Amino acid sequence: MQADHSNSDRLTISDTLGRPMRDLRISVTDRCNFRCTYCMPAEIYGERYEFLPRPEILNFEEIERLARIFAGLGVNKLRITGGEPLVRAQLPTLIESLTSIDGIDDIALTTNGFLLPKMAADLKAAGLKRITVSVDTLDEEIAKQMSGRPYGPERTLEGIEEAARVGFDPIKIDTVVQRGVNDHTLVDTARYFKERGHIVRFIEFMDVGTKNGWKLDQVVTAKEIIETIGAEFPLEPIDPNYYGEVATRYRYADGSGEIGVIASVSMPFCGTCTRARLTTDGRIVTCLFAAGGKDLKSLLRGGASDKEITDAVRGVWSNRGDRYSELREAATDWEAGVVEGAGVGPDRKKIEMYQIGG
Ligand code: SAM
Ligand code: SF4
Ligand code: SF4
Repeated sequence: MQADHSNSDRLTISDTLGRPMRDLRISVTDRCNFRCTYCMPAEIYGERYEFLPRPEILNFEEIERLARIFAGLGVNKLRITGGEPLVRAQLPTLIESLTSIDGIDDIALTTNGFLLPKMAADLKAAGLKRITVSVDTLDEEIAKQMSGRPYGPERTLEGIEEAARVGFDPIKIDTVVQRGVNDHTLVDTARYFKERGHIVRFIEFMDVGTKNGWKLDQVVTAKEIIETIGAEFPLEPIDPNYYGEVATRYRYADGSGEIGVIASVSMPFCGTCTRARLTTDGRIVTCLFAAGGKDLKSLLRGGASDKEITDAVRGVWSNRGDRYSELREAATDWEAGVVEGAGVGPDRKKIEMYQIGG
C-alpha cells in the first residue's frame, strides 16, 4: 500500500495495483419495485422471497458515519443505489446528511425512476447533485418484459422530465443491452434522449450475480452498439472527463450532445477502478464480481472507534487485487462464444447486483 497525506489531513490509500479509493457506492436497500430479468428475475425473487430483515439494514446514522470514514480515506464521490434506492423511506434525509461530509464533492443516485415523479424535487432540495435513470427501451412490451413488471416506460420517462424540471442537468440514462431482447430498439432510445439533451450510456450485459442466466452470445459489444447508433447519427470519440470514468464517450457530430458505452465485457477497465461498495447490511465489497465482503456493521455496532473502522477499511482496500473483468476477458473466446478459465464466468460464486447496486 502507498499512503500519503495530500492537501489536507485526508489520507489517500491505494490497493495492490496502485488504484486509489475514490468512489463509494452505497446500497441503501436490497428491495426493488422492479424485477429486471438481468438482475432480480421474478421467478426467483417472488412474493415470498425474504429480503434482509430490518435490524440487519444499516440505519442512516450508521451510513453517514461510514461515509465520513471513507471520505477520510480519500473518497470524494458517493453514489446512492440499491436495490431501488427510492423505495427506502426518507431517502432525502440521508442525502441531506451526506452533503455535510468534508471532502465529499459529488453525490449521485441511480434509480429505475418509477418513483421519481413525486420525489425529484425533494431529492434536489436535499442536495443531490446528479441523477442516473435506468431505461432499457421505450418499447412498451419489451420494457414490461425486461422490468418483470406490468409497467411500460411512461412513469420513468415522467420521472426524468420532472428531474429535468427541478434542475438536474445533465441527466444520465443507463441502458442495459441484451441481444435478441432490446438491441433493435437502441436507435429509438438514442434519438429520444438526444432530442431532450440527456446522456445515454449503453451498458454491455454483464455476468454479475448468479441468477440472470448470462450467456456470452447475449452480449452486444460496445463496438457493435457504436456502429448501430453511428449509422443513424454520426459519432466522434471524445476524451474521458476524469481518471477512472467507466463510460467511453462519443459526441454526436451534429453537436447535439453525447452518449457513452460501458464495455465491461469486451473492453474491461479494471486498471482504473477506484470504486468501493457498501452493501445494505454493512459490508465493504471491492469488486462487482466479489463473492462477499468484509462486515463493518459488527464493528459499528460492537462499539469500535472511528480509528478501528478506518483501519479495517484501509486493510481491505490495501489488500485489494480485484480485476475480474480483465480475467474474464482474457478467458473469453469470442469466436467460439465461450468463457473458459478458472474462477471466471457464470458459475463463479458472486454477490448479487441488487445487493451492491452496480
Ligand atoms: N434500481 C436502480 C436501477 O435499476 O437503476 C439501481 C440499482 S441497479 C442494480 C444499477 C444498474 O445496474 C442499473 O442501471 C441496471 O440496469 C444495471 N444492471 C443490473 N444488472 C445488470 C447486468 N446484468 N448487466 C449490466 N447492467 C446491469
Ligand atoms: Fe431493481 Fe435496478 Fe435490479 Fe432492475 S436493475 S431489478 S430496477 S435493482
Ligand atoms: Fe472494478 Fe471489479 Fe469491475 Fe474490474 S471487474 S472494473 S475491479 S468492479
